[in-house]
Amino acid sequence: MGSGSEIGANSYLITCGSEQIVLDCGLHPKLEGRAALPDLAPLRGDPAAVIVSHAHVDHCGAVPYLLKQCPATACYATQATLNLMDRMLHNSVAVMGTLSLERGISDYPLYRHGDVESVIRRAYGLSYHKEFALDWDSETRATFIPSGHVLGAAGILLRMPGHTLYYTSDISLADQELLGGMEFPDESAGIDTLVVESTRGAQEGGHLYNFQSEVERLVVAINGVLDADGVVLIPSFALGRTQELLNVIARLIEEERIPDVPVYASGLGRAVYEIYAKHARLLKPDAVFRPLHTFKRIGDVWERQVRRDLVRQRSIIVATSGMMVESTPSAVIAQELVRDTRHGIFFAGYLDPDTLGYKLVNCAQGDAFAFEYMGRKVEVVLQNMQRFHFSAHAHRDDLLRVVQRIRPKNVVFVHGDDDAVAWMHDNCHGDFTKHIPDPDADLVLEA
Ligand SMILES: [Zn+2]
Ligand SMILES: [Zn+2]
Repeated sequence: MGSGSEIGANSYLITCGSEQIVLDCGLHPKLEGRAALPDLAPLRGDPAAVIVSHAHVDHCGAVPYLLKQCPATACYATQATLNLMDRMLHNSVAVMGTLSLERGISDYPLYRHGDVESVIRRAYGLSYHKEFALDWDSETRATFIPSGHVLGAAGILLRMPGHTLYYTSDISLADQELLGGMEFPDESAGIDTLVVESTRGAQEGGHLYNFQSEVERLVVAINGVLDADGVVLIPSFALGRTQELLNVIARLIEEERIPDVPVYASGLGRAVYEIYAKHARLLKPDAVFRPLHTFKRIGDVWERQVRRDLVRQRSIIVATSGMMVESTPSAVIAQELVRDTRHGIFFAGYLDPDTLGYKLVNCAQGDAFAFEYMGRKVEVVLQNMQRFHFSAHAHRDDLLRVVQRIRPKNVVFVHGDDDAVAWMHDNCHGDFTKHIPDPDADLVLEA
């Protein structure tokens, strides 16, 4: 029901017999208003359940909207995902409220704080590996299996009458600083259909860098800036990458590989950090997870004096948003840093070509950008702006390995741009039928 072969509003309607099950129900990250919602038109009455793989907004951001339309639908997620959804969805309401005022988007908000509260009250927060029935009279059983990626994230194993389906959602095979890599479903599960993500399908050479090799590059980059008495800004997604990177930086300071300077973290990243702390037993066994007070608050950076004081002495700042959307903490801090060549801005992951972050990394000295909505343009003097690849997604060779190891009868490639999905389709070889779903058509899967 999402936008098909792109990373849009992730949502898949699975129909088996007369039962309807929705896997994920996200908001499109680049579209606004109702256009960002999945298309719920294929639903025939209230589905039995919506099962949420993890708390990124492109996977859960439309759940309050769906449950408002479908009051009889049950909602399931892991307990950690549910706690994270609570934070992320309330934040979405706040962001939609701001956008509706600033840019006059009349559809916003698509739902309100009360709708989020009702989702959290209604939803079932479950453990990994515990099989559950969708309903008292449903024959379908589901199980959450750890998928790496972010806290609470899960692949969903669906055992329907006569057909077993595994939806990987977003997966990381490699260990990160805090989270271990994905687990595979039991070999005895006999998976008929595998629905697999394709995010990095178009990325050549993705296997050449990994989490630890990127940490080594980051050490060199941070030292260069701090030695020149500059400030390091790392724009980062609030859920997942922020918590991972804060602990990387803290470790590097403890190991005396970078100077002992103050490390700052921005608001939503801190709130998510507290939920990581609450579920620390889900992190990999050898993970060292520092208490939140290790990292200072950035303060009210919308006050010019506050952010000027913030960048006066050398420090490392991890702030949202990751792609530096205008009027977010990373953008308003960056508008101070770009005036001075001593500093460094290091992007931690994927940058969409339409975003301010992408334009900054590719700009020439003297180009000017507005960092706040309707704000005055600031001339860019700083040149030390770099990209790092701390991906929480498996690279494409690993994705092929996942398919080969699970050996399903059908493979459905989702969650990637057209070229990424096409690469996966063309390079995935085995005794199975391959599918690229069309959002406007049903896909019939034989067991
Ligand atoms: Zn995700
Ligand atoms: Zn995703």
